[in-house]
Amino acid sequence: MKLGAIEAGGTKFVCAIGNEQGDIFEKTVIPTEHPDVTMPVVYQFFKGKGVERIGIGSFGPIDVNEASDSYGTIQNTPKIDWVDFPLAKRLADQLHVPVKVDTDVNVAALSEAEWGNATDVDSCLYITVGTGIGAGAIVNGTTLNGLSHPEMGHIAVKRHDDDSFAGACPYHNDCLEGMASGPALEKRWGKAGKELADDERVWEIEAHYLAQALVNYIYILSPERIIMGGGVMQQEHLFDLIRKNVMESLAGYVSSPFLSAENIDRYIVPPGLTDEAGVKGALLLASK
Ligand code: ADP
Ligand code: ZN
Repeated sequence: MKLGAIEAGGTKFVCAIGNEQGDIFEKTVIPTEHPDVTMPVVYQFFKGKGVERIGIGSFGPIDVNEASDSYGTIQNTPKIDWVDFPLAKRLADQLHVPVKVDTDVNVAALSEAEWGNATDVDSCLYITVGTGIGAGAIVNGTTLNGLSHPEMGHIAVKRHDDDSFAGACPYHNDCLEGMASGPALEKRWGKAGKELADDERVWEIEAHYLAQALVNYIYILSPERIIMGGGVMQQEHLFDLIRKNVMESLAGYVSSPFLSAENIDRYIVPPGLTDEAGVKGALLLASK
């Protein structure tokens, strides 16, 4: 089946045509500007190409409840031009095909489970640490949504003893995203994460917050694998710091062969798919 896929991000929309096996036949990248500017280009890309369904992995918050009148409408985002924009409805109206929507992280989790680093397990968590922090969980082969989609980046975290940074989240100040996103690093230290690579204090504090979050997710969701992506995770040394903190914090409480010194590096892992994870996940969503 010919399917359409969109990875809708704050800086760019990646649009693709492909199939449910994840083959991509055609792809384009459109800058995210005002919806009146961006969306006509998106419609034009898909028009006349014979796609039967479209899947979208979007920045949020976005309504992901299929029974809701505002399914696929962007909600309270700081990207002000997009607040209340009915993304799925407009696409369906323009292209006359069914449109499915989930969050960017849920869709990334779907494609990691199908083709990436979680193909051998039934549940997983995908977390991105970038401009924002968000996570999606796969449980019983499907993404976990409820009232809305989860907002795992905005959980409360216990402050590091040596950290007096006020936090960068416009809603909660010192939530996880407020303390550990790329912009939080930059605001706390006065330099972008990339330029802080050699400063051990930076990453010790960063790992403190991220590991705490993972421990909470492990206790609540019990995922069989945790995949960490996003710009900040390009700091590869963070993985070992996080694994060590997670093990110390769990203190042996959860019994699983994965949560052992020998296996923890196969439990908390980088993504298996690189730049096409978003559109491939959106293809999968469209096919469901
Ligand atoms: P987005 O979240 O917008 O999709 P990214 O996942 O690339 O994009 O995240 C961007 C954030 O990641 C920025 O705050 C940037 O400073 C940070 N970042 C990008 N590359 C690195 C790196 N190599 N080391 C640390 N931080 C990085
Ligand atoms: Zn927050």
